[in-house]
This record gives sequence, C-alpha cells and structure tokens, in this order.
Amino acid sequence: MEKKQFQAESKRLLEMMINSIYTQKEIFLRELISNSSDAIDKIYYKALTDDKLVFDKDNYYIQVIPDKTNRTLTIRDTGIGMTEEDLENNLGIIAKSGSLAFKKENEAKDGHNIIGQFGVGFYSAFMVADVVTVISKSLETGRAYKWESTGADGYTIEPSEKESVGTEIVLKIKDNTEDESYDEYLEEYRLRSIIKKYSDFIRYPIKMEISGR
Ligand code: ADP
Ligand code: MG
Repeated sequence: MEKKQFQAESKRLLEMMINSIYTQKEIFLRELISNSSDAIDKIYYKALTDDKLVFDKDNYYIQVIPDKTNRTLTIRDTGIGMTEEDLENNLGIIAKSGSLAFKKENEAKDGHNIIGQFGVGFYSAFMVADVVTVISKSLETGRAYKWESTGADGYTIEPSEKESVGTEIVLKIKDNTEDESYDEYLEEYRLRSIIKKYSDFIRYPIKMEISGR
C-alpha cells in the first residue's frame, strides 16, 4: 500500500507532537473528545433541516475505552464520520494553517503555556501514541475507511469495515521510557479525572468502558 506524506506544515506540527514539546500531554484527550463532540453536533444540525434524519439523543455519545492488555486507548463516537476524502483532507493536511501561524507567534511570546488556551487538534494524539488508527464510517456515503499513521513517515488509507456510522480512534499508547511513563493513559481513574478537568462541559455523554481484562 502506498504511504502518503503529510504536507510540510502538518509534518512540522506532527514532529512537535511526537517529540512532545508540551508538558501537558493529557490534553490529547480533550482534543479527541472535542472532535467527537463536533462530529455529533454536525449530525444534530443536519437533523434540524433534514426530515429524514431524526436526532434521538440516546443514540449520540462518546466512548473512552482503555485496554491495558493491548495497551490501546480507543475514543469512539457516533458522529457524522468521515469519507475517504475527509480522512485525506482533514487528517493529512492542516486545514487552518492560519491558526498554526497564530499559535507559533504566541508561543514565541509566551514560552510554553499556550497549550491550555488553544486547541492543538488531532495530532496531539501522537504525544501519547506511536500508532494512531482512525476507522470511520461516513453518514453521507455509508462506507468505512481506515486511516493509519506511525507519525512523521506518513499515513495510509484503505477501505475498512465498521458497523455503525461514526469514528473510532485507536491509540497505541507509547511504551514507558526512562524519563516518562505513559501507563496513566490506560488507567480508568486517571482518564476520568482528565475528562472531568477538560471535558466537563461537553453536551453528549462520555462513557467509560474497560476492555481487555
Ligand atoms: P479542528 O477540530 O480544529 O478542526 P483537528 O485537528 O482537531 O482540528 O481536527 C481536524 C479535522 O478532522 C476536524 O475539523 C474534522 O473535520 C476531522 N475530524 C477529526 N476527528 C473527527 C471525528 N471524531 N469525527 C469526524 N471528523 C473528525
Ligand atoms: Mg479539534
């Protein structure tokens, strides 16, 4: 399968994330949950104008699933999903290069502590994961695709299977190093406290499920 390269700007941000210049790695979860929430919002707004689409609140939620056995953390949503093109355009490229420029400028002014104020987005997953797999089924096309990346060397996209519309992001959590432990991102208690800290205002239920034990 052909490995595609990230665009230059994306690659730079990605490298920053992989090298974890930020101390608050925990914010990756806020970023992924906020993307899930946005994806559910998209269905919600679509339902307002689309008679064929009913927004039944019970069907829309976000799941956070740590699996210590396989050392994965999965964030799953029942949002609008992504088409093959979306995966290509949204995860391969930084759409808002303006916001990156803005971040850089402020970073220069403010050292390191802007992370709490600005979204750093999807790539922040690479602060805690060495493989990121996105499986998404689009509401629009009903087709599922898998996007996968081990970081700066690019990404692949291929057809996949997924039962329901929405997106599943599987993070292969990094192994511990001498200086840093990543085990906490598989701990239910720790994950709950990160969610409480940053994602308390999210309008959809965030459900914790424990897997692999
Ligand atoms: P932002 O949220 O600021 O647009 P991100 O880097 O967080 O930037 O996400 C990039 C884009 O990828 C989003 O705008 C969205 O189009 C898409 N995306 C990311 N996660 C999801 C998801 N769970 N469901 C649907 N689309 C997503
Ligand atoms: Mg985002």
